[in-house]
Amino acid sequence: MSHHRFSGLVFCIVSLFVTLPLCVSAIPEWQVIKGKHFLVHYVKDPVMAERVAGKAEEYYSSITTDLGFARYDNFWLWENRVKIFIYSSKTEFTQKTGAPEWAIGKTVCDKKEISTFPGNDSFMDSVLPHELTHLVLRDFMGFKGEIPLWLNEGVSQWEEPAKRTQMVKIAGRLAAGNKYIPLDKLMLVNVRQLVADVKVGEFYAQSVSLVGFLIEKHGSERFRIFCGQLRNGRGLEDALRFAYPDSLRNIDDLERAWKKYVMEQKEVNR
Ligand SMILES: [Zn+2]
Repeated sequence: MSHHRFSGLVFCIVSLFVTLPLCVSAIPEWQVIKGKHFLVHYVKDPVMAERVAGKAEEYYSSITTDLGFARYDNFWLWENRVKIFIYSSKTEFTQKTGAPEWAIGKTVCDKKEISTFPGNDSFMDSVLPHELTHLVLRDFMGFKGEIPLWLNEGVSQWEEPAKRTQMVKIAGRLAAGNKYIPLDKLMLVNVRQLVADVKVGEFYAQSVSLVGFLIEKHGSERFRIFCGQLRNGRGLEDALRFAYPDSLRNIDDLERAWKKYVMEQKEVNR
């Protein structure tokens, strides 16, 4: 009997040693920083987590202000807060989220979760504002319809501080050389076409500058109205006419005015 009990004890200790390290790596012990709109989870880098928490709130405020949502919509409070996960390493991030090798962040839109790992500056400066913008826009537009690609990617890149100037410059060159994609074509591009037959660089640059034109030239308030009309199922020209009745009544108006704006920007940025 005692022999059996003894061997049972040994077995328990051995299995404890075998399983313990596995358990630790399978379930990271998350620490959480609770902010107004964000819950930042981290494993071992509180300094980075604090920076992420601070930056995320800054971006939240500038994004909702730019898009005209700040005065009306209160996203992500209390139990609706966005969850940010900072894994302990790139390897763990890739394994746990299933993100591709090259990725430095992963967003799950319907769960409102963004994941990353320490040691990449471009997360803070570009991935974080980009993905937060996608989440804000998705919350505003609702989950039913497709957000037009130019709008979705244009807005997200407009909110990346470094991309903004860079993309506007490229758009200026395209417009000056009459090498831009006509807006009636641009505004209908979907992801499949983007991969197949549209020049990706041109598409992004123009989308960003088009969003910039609408926001800077016509204001955030009207931009929100325009997005709201698309959300309610109006077609593009109807939404334009509704939001900008005295200036942008159709896509031709929009193209002319956008081109003029881009050329002016080009002069300013020389
Ligand atoms: Zn994007």
